Amino acid sequence: MAEELNPFKIAQEQLDAAAELMNLDKQALAILREPMRTLIVNIPVKMDDGSTKTFTGFRVQYNDARGPGKGGIRYHPQESLDTVKALAAWMTWKTALANIPYGGAKGGIICDTKTMSESELEKISRGYIRALGRFIGPDVDIPAPDVYTTPQIMAWMMDEYSKLVGKNEFGTITGKPLEVWGSEGRSNSTAMGGMYIMREAAKLKGIDLKNAKIAIQGFGNAGNFAFDLAKRLFGSKIVAISDSQGGVYLEDGLEYDKLLKAKKETGSVQGYEGAEKITNEQLLESDVDILIPAAIENQVTKDNADKIKAKILLELANGPVTPEADNILFERGVFDLPDFLVNSGGVIVSYFEWVQNINGYYWDADDVYAKLDRIMTRSFNDVINMQKKFESNGKKINARMAAYIIAVDRVAKAMKARGWY
Ligand code: GLU
Repeated sequence: MAEELNPFKIAQEQLDAAAELMNLDKQALAILREPMRTLIVNIPVKMDDGSTKTFTGFRVQYNDARGPGKGGIRYHPQESLDTVKALAAWMTWKTALANIPYGGAKGGIICDTKTMSESELEKISRGYIRALGRFIGPDVDIPAPDVYTTPQIMAWMMDEYSKLVGKNEFGTITGKPLEVWGSEGRSNSTAMGGMYIMREAAKLKGIDLKNAKIAIQGFGNAGNFAFDLAKRLFGSKIVAISDSQGGVYLEDGLEYDKLLKAKKETGSVQGYEGAEKITNEQLLESDVDILIPAAIENQVTKDNADKIKAKILLELANGPVTPEADNILFERGVFDLPDFLVNSGGVIVSYFEWVQNINGYYWDADDVYAKLDRIMTRSFNDVINMQKKFESNGKKINARMAAYIIAVDRVAKAMKARGWY
């Protein structure tokens, strides 16, 4: 039978598996299996050619028992409600695992940013906020960037929201540029957080990062910075990288400057001179110590999980590994660190940005990274300790299930205390 690749079905399947392991109350599970609120909006945009095109946008507010909704907005031609629902669920677990005072939410618009002008992008972004304005806000739901959305887009959105409410509300959107009170360190925070997890995981597995070979899938907000940081912080060798058009491989290690040049001049990392062109599939199966999927969902499936050679799989993307692949990797002893642990650096620094906005008092980058490191390392240790706890009771669970159990327990306890069940 074909593997189910509907992201929301996958998110529910993961939750069900965790619920069983932790003996979660059935009423709590029923609340947590579905989003609290789902919004679908139509956004008319006057295009540059004078025609009006209508786009569909989503915002899913999954659970707010622990605090306001929080999560990014994706602009993607294949965006779907089920994908946004899954991502909103994962945000709920992400903020709970990091133990920051938020619930989970996610947004998306079905659109292809590659075919849109700057002015069309501005209009669609402002239109999204006008459509959703009354359902978001600094203590309701706080959007941020995700796939194909940028700090500039966040600035337009914050501006539109501020106009709607008639005063500056910097804290209603995070991931803003520094000029309008974004946070130091936010731009590479997802990758930076992932690096702290990689450091801890390598320590645990006895892997020397200086001599480690790494492959990264994706060259966006996460993959691009992960490349730069892995080299700069640990001196690791990045032998493979890809974008949506395909990848490149170089045994001696790729150079960041040359990669940026290739991307700028040819539009793809594949323009890197002197490197072997590979497909995204080949990248995932390359002979490396650490594999970092940093693009989109469902990349490691039951069809390629037994071909992964990496010892550590660092899920910087959301949802890159399917449940069937999870089981195969676990049996094969691949140390797979789950997305909502690994990529939580983005939302953690978003939290710092929101705290700074509310207080009007700003921190420097060293301060931000030191605080981020503390939370990431604490979350990693929480997950490892949960695995150990189960193991001492005679049951081995993977890191994803351990992370789920911690996160779901925190959300369920908040719901219980509030009298929701
Ligand atoms: N889009 C990022 C994520 O998936 C960041 C979300 C945020 O900063 O709210 O975690």
